[in-house]
Amino acid sequence: MGPKLGILGPNMEILGIPPPPPDFLFKFLVIGSAGTGKSCLLHHFIESKFKQDSNHTIGVEFGSKVVNVGGKTVKLQIWDTAGQERFRSVTRSYYRGAAGALLVYDITSRETYNALAQWLTDARTLASPNIVIILCGNKKDLEGEREVTFLEASRFAQENELMFLETSALTGENVEEAFLKCARTILNKIESGELDPERMGSGIQYGDASLRQLRQPRGAPAPARQSCGC
Ligand code: GDP
Ligand code: MG
Repeated sequence: MGPKLGILGPNMEILGIPPPPPDFLFKFLVIGSAGTGKSCLLHHFIESKFKQDSNHTIGVEFGSKVVNVGGKTVKLQIWDTAGQERFRSVTRSYYRGAAGALLVYDITSRETYNALAQWLTDARTLASPNIVIILCGNKKDLEGEREVTFLEASRFAQENELMFLETSALTGENVEEAFLKCARTILNKIESGELDPERMGSGIQYGDASLRQLRQPRGAPAPARQSCGC
């Protein structure tokens, strides 16, 4: 009897057999003021999986990782501003077609918290009004220097329909959770029909065409599309 390929899992790559394509591909952004720890969050998320990869430096512009969410494999393609935010020149093309975003502020800097509303407007106008955003209060490890309370940030998140976590790219606390929570919400919205992966610019692709069946048939008529005025 030949080898049971089905139980080889991640070792398949060692045998030269390419891993199966992921079920979905989501484009993610990491946004927020300079110095809040965006690059460190991305770096920590990617590194924990690819420790042997020594090419990663802080300041990566792009990272990708396959995660398992509710039994589905999802490849997250994550874009980091790579320093553009210092010059307030984060471009429209950076935002285009993103399905999810981590909106980051630094709990030790009220200035970065005060900038959140502007980042949020940019994300919803330049990416998509449907973009799924998780607010991340980073540098949770610096409790002694805290300037923004958990409670006020939770309220901001609630008022603006964001998910919320405090994270630490230093200790790794809640880093993976932030990406996974965002991915899980997108997947739930696809399954409920609230998000349509086939809509242009949704930031979602099927890794395998057969998965198109995943979506439930949409019984209810789609809501009338609002004019974007552009
Ligand atoms: P970016 O400009 O938003 O990409 O921020 P960076 O990732 O470059 O981080 C800015 C600075 O904050 C660097 O000196 C990092 O070492 C530091 N930093 C980032 N995340 C954390 C964290 O969770 N805790 C602490 N203590 N420092 C952090
Ligand atoms: Mg950076």
